[in-house]
Amino acid sequence: MSDDGRVISCAGGTMIRRIGRILIALSISFTGLSIGARSQVLNYLTKQKQPPLKIVKVANGIYMAKGEWGSNVGFCTWNNEVLVIDSKATKDATEKVIKEIGKITKNPITRVVFTHSDPDSFNGRDAYPDTAEIICSLRVLDDYKKNPTVYLEMNAPAAIYAAWPRSDFIPAMTFEGQLNIRLGHDEVTLLHYGPAHTSGDTIVWFPSDRVAFIGDLVFDGHEPLIQDQKGGNSLGLVRVLSILFGLKPEVRTFIPSHGDPVGRDIVQQNLGTIEEVRSKVTAMFDAGKSLEDVKKAFGVREPPQEAGAWIWPSLAVTVYRELSRKKF
Ligand SMILES: [Zn+2]
Repeated sequence: MSDDGRVISCAGGTMIRRIGRILIALSISFTGLSIGARSQVLNYLTKQKQPPLKIVKVANGIYMAKGEWGSNVGFCTWNNEVLVIDSKATKDATEKVIKEIGKITKNPITRVVFTHSDPDSFNGRDAYPDTAEIICSLRVLDDYKKNPTVYLEMNAPAAIYAAWPRSDFIPAMTFEGQLNIRLGHDEVTLLHYGPAHTSGDTIVWFPSDRVAFIGDLVFDGHEPLIQDQKGGNSLGLVRVLSILFGLKPEVRTFIPSHGDPVGRDIVQQNLGTIEEVRSKVTAMFDAGKSLEDVKKAFGVREPPQEAGAWIWPSLAVTVYRELSRKKF
C-alpha cells in the first residue's frame, strides 16, 4: 500500500510495494495490428539498468536528452536563457541532464514546460531551480491534483516511481489553446488542443526550425496509447494529430517523449492506426459485438501471470470502452 493508501497490484493481484502517489495500472491487452504495434512484455520487478544519457542536437540551439530513467527531455538555449521541456522520471536523472545543459551553455534555466503529467516526464521536476518559471496547460494542473491511475510507458523498476516528489506542484503560468513565448529573437509556441493522450497534452512548437516536441501524442514502434484515466480520448488524439500535421510552417521533426525524433511518415502512420482501429471497433460495437469479440478480433493477449509484468495497452480495448461509456 502506498503512503496515501493506494496499492500497486501485479497481474496476479499481489500487492507489491509502496510507490507514493502513483497507482500503476497494469495493462491488460494488445492488438495484433500491423502498424507499429509490438507485443512487448515489460516487468518492473526485474533488475534493470538505465540506458546512458545522451544529448542530441535537433536544431540550432535545440537539443533533446535521451536515456536515463524517464522520457526524453528537450531544451532550447536561445538568447540568455534556457527553456526546458519535461523532466526525467527522477530528480537524480534530471540533475544529470541539468549538468549536461551546463556544459553547453552557462545561461540559467528560466522556464520549464511540461507536455503532460505522466510520471516518466514529470517526476524529476524538483531538480529544476526554484527560480525557473513552470508552464503547463491548465489540465495538467487538474490531473496532478486528481492524481489518477496511469499506464506505465517504459520499462523501469518500481523504485523509480517511488521517487515521486512530495513537493507541491505550483506552475507559474497555465494556459489553454495557444501561448507564445518570446525567447531571444524567436518565438516558441505552446499549443493545447484538448484531450488526446491525456487531457492536458501540450505541443512545444519551434516554427522557425520546423521542430515540435510532442510528448506522448506519437509512439514509434507501439500503437498509440490513451491515458483514459487522465481524460485521454482516441477521437481527441485523431483531432490533435491532424492539427499537428497541418501546422504551417510544416513541422518536419517531431520529438516524442519516447524514442528517437520521427518524421511526418510516422505521425501519419500513428494517425492512420487510430482511425483504422476506431472505425473497425465502432463497426463491431454498432453490430452488438462484445468486448471479448473485439479482443479476439484484434488478437488481444491476456496479461502475463508473472509478478510485476504487463503488456502495452490495447487501443482497440480503449476505443471499445470509450464507446461503451458514451452509450451508458
Ligand atoms: Zn504519457
